[in-house]
Amino acid sequence: MRTGEEFIQKLHQMKPNVFINGETVSRDDPRLQAVAKIIAMTLDKVEEPDFKDLLKVESQDYGTINRFTHIHQSVDDLLKKQELTRKLCRLTGGCVFRCMGIDAMNALSIITHRAEAMTGQPYNQRFLKYLKYWQENDIVGSCAQTDPKGNRALRPHQQADPDLYLRVVEHRDDGIVVRGAKNHITAAAVAEEIIVLPTRMLTPEEDEYAVAFAIPGDWDGVKLVTRASNHKREHYSCPSGDFGDVENFIIFDDVFVPNDRVFLGGREGEHAFGGWTALLFALYHRHSYTGCKPATSEILLGFSALVSEYNGIEDKKHVQSKLADLISVCELVYAAGIAAAHTATKDDSGTMIPDAVFCNVGRKHAGKNYYHELEILADLAGGLPATLPHEADFYDETIGPLLQKYIKRKEDVSSDNVYKLYRTLSDILCSSIGGVSAVAGLHGGGSPQMEDVAILKGYDLESRKKIAKYLAGISED
Ligand SMILES: Cc1cc2nc3c(=O)[nH]c(=O)nc-3n(C[C@H](O)[C@H](O)[C@H](O)COP(=O)(O)OP(=O)(O)OC[C@H]3O[C@@H](n4cnc5c(N)ncnc54)[C@H](O)[C@@H]3O)c2cc1C
Repeated sequence: MRTGEEFIQKLHQMKPNVFINGETVSRDDPRLQAVAKIIAMTLDKVEEPDFKDLLKVESQDYGTINRFTHIHQSVDDLLKKQELTRKLCRLTGGCVFRCMGIDAMNALSIITHRAEAMTGQPYNQRFLKYLKYWQENDIVGSCAQTDPKGNRALRPHQQADPDLYLRVVEHRDDGIVVRGAKNHITAAAVAEEIIVLPTRMLTPEEDEYAVAFAIPGDWDGVKLVTRASNHKREHYSCPSGDFGDVENFIIFDDVFVPNDRVFLGGREGEHAFGGWTALLFALYHRHSYTGCKPATSEILLGFSALVSEYNGIEDKKHVQSKLADLISVCELVYAAGIAAAHTATKDDSGTMIPDAVFCNVGRKHAGKNYYHELEILADLAGGLPATLPHEADFYDETIGPLLQKYIKRKEDVSSDNVYKLYRTLSDILCSSIGGVSAVAGLHGGGSPQMEDVAILKGYDLESRKKIAKYLAGISED
């Protein structure tokens, strides 16, 4: 297994195809380093006592590998991935930027197996070869599923511009040429590989959109338009000041993908795999959310409790009730992920599939409550996160001492600690990244409506109607 530093060195050698705010930059651009360092941490923690049992896993073929390159084989694998995600996200203040790639790989392990059996194309053989490359080289991947989608009321083939969903525009003997874009793609500019999947169910007119493949992030014709942000402190250092976010609008400008990296080729009849792939990636990703969202809830809970303590209100009745509310969201989402793992089924490919209803109700509960959790934190913190003086003023020789006097809350808490707390609350509640996290909390892994669709698809409503009829004394029609 490689070190975080080796990963960062490889990243810095990639071709510059990243655009940030009007500039073309290399991957050593300072705005990308906060997320690159978080990813590096997931490589470096493999030997730490707290993490090694979760991060290291024995692969069937390639010895000990990092769990973020592993295909789930058992209930224990799903449980460990969830626990690992929660533990790591506590350290990073939110996202760990590793789930998207490995969730896509798990979905592909199943889809390519089915597609090879049904079409005779060697999709699974190619996937297994590509997985070997991942596991032997400890690869970091992102997942590009979400298309720009144009007019939401129209299907892909009905759009005025057919490229609003990524599609195959040419079939060659040695590969395919794809054109289109994917938006909202987390961490793509700091990942070595981009895994591209279809985003939705497709109809027989839409075979060309049933395309899945993997390419290096700096491949010819790939352009990454990147939004990068962090919370760097100027006058003191703290962990959350070193973290950040990287989101990408990826354009595939007639990109050639060689056959050995094509896992669904947009051939005749392959539209049937579009919906399955989309649902399976979303399923794995929603199981990941039952690990990361409890960590986010714990962070919001910790800050809610701390600001209440500093302000002298922690034992007030309404505060206690709000803290209990936060705990309930956090632990119910985690419990849903555990239940999804324990009721998982083994696919013919050997990959373990978590239960769809438990994953989706967990994800739905997390998404539905995210703004509620922020509301509690904002409520308990008061208005200061929005109006906090800048660091340069707080630490200024002249005005600083006056600000330190008037920011004081409980006697035994220093003004410096009050400032540091509110500076981070300001990041969470009032910053650009805070806003990104909130929208991600709602839409990441699919919009809330898509969770409802998945919940109802997997749920036996008829048996519940029978219960109602029995209780009401209604005889069978
Ligand atoms: C921070 C962040 C990170 C993300 N990371 C990734 C990533 O790494 N990889 C990735 O592939 N995706 C990623 N996503 C994308 C995420 O999955 C999508 O945002 C989500 O699926 C919603 O899609 P959308 O943004 O196009 O919104 P839309 O689909 O346009 O949704 C907006 C509203 O329109 C409704 N709607 C849309 N179409 C219809 C219709 N036909 N009929 C009725 N109602 C409709 C929706 O239900 C919703 O209420 C990320 C998103 C965020 C915010």
